[in-house]
Amino acid sequence: MIKKLLIANRGEIAVRIIRACAEMNICSVAVYSEADRHALHVKRADEAYFIGDDPLAGYLNPIKLVNLAIESGCDSLHPGYGFLSENANLAEICVENDICFVGPSSNVIRLMGDKTEARRSMINAGIPVIPGTESNVVNLSEALREGDRIGYPIMLKATSGGGGRGIRLCNCREELEEAYPRVISEATKAFGSSEVFLEKCIINPKHIEVQVLADSFGNTVHLFERDCSIQRRNQKLIEIAPSPQISPKMRAYIGDQAVRAAKAVGYQNAGTIEFLLADDEIYFMEMNTRVQVEYTVTEEITGIDIIREQLRIASGLALSIKQEEIQYRGYSLQFRINAEDPRNNFLPSFGKITRYYAPGGPGVRTDTAIYTGYTIPPYYDSMCLKLVVWALSWEEALARGSRALDDMRVQGIKTTATYYQQILADSDFRNGRFNTNFVDEHPHLLNYSIKRKPGELALAIAGVIAAYAGF
Ligand code: ADP
Ligand code: ADP
Ligand code: MG
Repeated sequence: MIKKLLIANRGEIAVRIIRACAEMNICSVAVYSEADRHALHVKRADEAYFIGDDPLAGYLNPIKLVNLAIESGCDSLHPGYGFLSENANLAEICVENDICFVGPSSNVIRLMGDKTEARRSMINAGIPVIPGTESNVVNLSEALREGDRIGYPIMLKATSGGGGRGIRLCNCREELEEAYPRVISEATKAFGSSEVFLEKCIINPKHIEVQVLADSFGNTVHLFERDCSIQRRNQKLIEIAPSPQISPKMRAYIGDQAVRAAKAVGYQNAGTIEFLLADDEIYFMEMNTRVQVEYTVTEEITGIDIIREQLRIASGLALSIKQEEIQYRGYSLQFRINAEDPRNNFLPSFGKITRYYAPGGPGVRTDTAIYTGYTIPPYYDSMCLKLVVWALSWEEALARGSRALDDMRVQGIKTTATYYQQILADSDFRNGRFNTNFVDEHPHLLNYSIKRKPGELALAIAGVIAAYAGF
């Protein structure tokens, strides 16, 4: 069994992994940049090591991280999500140095990290895939030719893309001509690869993804689906498990397809198969070969600790559950509380948290690395807290979400919390009728004013004064 784990990440996911270590008697080792000197993961880990002045370079340097793992006596490394979590080189360097990588093999990461290769393997495995190009398009004239063949609207996508970046909707030839150089330049900058391909644009789709777990003995199971249709700019905002808008028959079918997909590539550890669903047809979109941001809602409905399973699988243990033993109960929603101003085009709003109260009570969970007095550095993701609720029925889960958002106080920065209250009050959302265009199709939900309770204004003013006075 793993004894000492280097966590090559920061923020809430680093804290979450540290918590799993504490429960499993594993020594946790954090790493931090200068900007993260006062971060919670540094305080909570058993040991913590400085990895450089630059906010990003250390977190993105596989050799440095593996060397640090060796020097600090670690036998394993968890990449979290983002950063190097889908970097095949890191997995490879770990293996070469006898450090157990908590994730799939480097070959599988490489295969599924390349969206065109992934599409090809899924087509070969008989999984329904979004219609599109067979391989990457090499120039604009090929792109235009393929666009005509596939039929507009189409999606132009970066082959190594992720995090909602490097994707552009093109409604016609002219738009493709305009988008082509832009996506290439965005992809080169963000992912270090200029490769792009085309997909048919699925109209009004629901984003439905399936959590899988696979051990080294060939056991592969799914933990049901998540509905991540509530997105802005192709990035998820609210995630739900199970989906309130699919039938039990579809649930069984999509779970089965996900297991087949994972088995087809010899997948090991935790992963997610993402599908789009439209008119009762599902289409494979991509696989994320890591733990995702929204795995929490699956933990809530199944009771399975996914980080624990990841660490067990990496240690060479068999899955602790069989497919027929996995059940789900109730509904769970996760609200990504981002340091952003939804009313100002989701502009990032970094700064000092003058006051933070965690919401509590039954069925409420917060995964975060913020605390009162913490200053959110501007160099990293704007997601600063995951508020997760669970309840037996959909209606109760909605009420609980609203109540928990109301309970919570994150002051000093602007967040997405109040916007989520508007979504929770919307009848389409409540009736389980939403697709990936929900945010764009409900612009009025962004016209809200922040109502303060009596006495809160005084507290807010005191908070601002305290922030400026420097306490
Ligand atoms: P999830 O699929 O878990 O919802 P997101 O798409 O929200 O994950 O991404 C989680 C984090 O990982 C974000 O910070 C995102 O920018 C980053 N990320 C995801 N994929 C990539 C990638 N291919 N390259 C760089 N960063 C990525
Ligand atoms: P990333 O790697 O950034 O997560 P994905 O390929 O998973 O990129 O797509 C992110 C989101 O973009 C999807 O959840 C969906 O909302 C939208 N999207 C992607 N491809 C298509 C498509 N072919 N048709 C319609 N929407 C799409
Ligand atoms: Mg995706």
